[in-house]
Amino acid sequence: STIPSVTLNDGAVIPQLGFGVWQVPDAEAAPAVRAAIEAGYRSIDTAAVYENETGTGVAIAESGVAREELFVTTKLWNSGTVDWSGQQGRDAVLRAFDDSLAKLGLDHVDLYLIHWPRPMHGSFGNIWKAFEQLAADGRATSIGVSNFGPQQLEVLLQESSVAPVLNQVELHPYFPQHELRAFHAQHGIATEAWSPLGQGKSLLDEPALAKVAAKHGRTPAQVVLRWHLQSGVIAIPKSVTPSRIRENLDVAGFELDAEDLAAIASIDTGRRIGPDPQGFDWN
Ligand code: NAD
Repeated sequence: STIPSVTLNDGAVIPQLGFGVWQVPDAEAAPAVRAAIEAGYRSIDTAAVYENETGTGVAIAESGVAREELFVTTKLWNSGTVDWSGQQGRDAVLRAFDDSLAKLGLDHVDLYLIHWPRPMHGSFGNIWKAFEQLAADGRATSIGVSNFGPQQLEVLLQESSVAPVLNQVELHPYFPQHELRAFHAQHGIATEAWSPLGQGKSLLDEPALAKVAAKHGRTPAQVVLRWHLQSGVIAIPKSVTPSRIRENLDVAGFELDAEDLAAIASIDTGRRIGPDPQGFDWN
């Protein structure tokens, strides 16, 4: 395969390009994930709240690809009514994990993430203790977080003995997250980009990207994904269209030069598309 990989701080290896399934209804998840695996993706990113772990699991089971060749990620949802403190909180995490695993039809996932930090609810340290248990039991090969800021990562690193392997955050040319990436690099935490294509909205229509794409005979989406790979970032683009699923994986064989990177840097708006995790508490 031509997909590069990243070695995580626990020794596990993750493909640098994966397939995300947010907003894919359960019934469409199986054909989409099947198309992705057929196209050559080996990493799939789902979450309990996406409500498509069942369809995702069906595609994995029917793919004919050996389980050890696949990298499956899912995430613990916020579930605001749950008391996450004490032993009952840790049991609640284990139950949520069991539910995800049952829906996926798997005996382990490769990566389990805390979906949002929800700093307004205090420490997530107790949740992380349950995650450490899942890792120790081999039910989640690796454990990590999503949408954490430096403050939350500092607390996690101080309070626990197992560091998150990665932090999955909003990241694309409009919002390149330079500071957070530097923090991650200092602490051996890999960076994974969600909405790596800026949700396919105005980003892919940027004239600066069209110019770089024309220069290389590629599409704007391929230029953006190439940019992620050259930045050392793990990206999980989503599409349910088979031709785009293939297009998004076909990003080898060209290299962005300094002029291209400067053009891409010039469209940085410093603004998110999604919510600011520091205030986000949906459930
Ligand atoms: P994305 O940036 O991957 O964009 C996807 C959209 O871009 C598609 O729906 C389609 O409209 C368009 N698109 C895709 N390929 C294209 C192409 N080749 N040409 C033109 N348009 C194209 O957006 P996303 O789905 O928000 O993010 C990807 C994944 O990240 C999600 O599926 C999910 O797995 C993950 N995610 C995680 C969080 C989190 O809180 N952890 C939040 C959002 C997304």
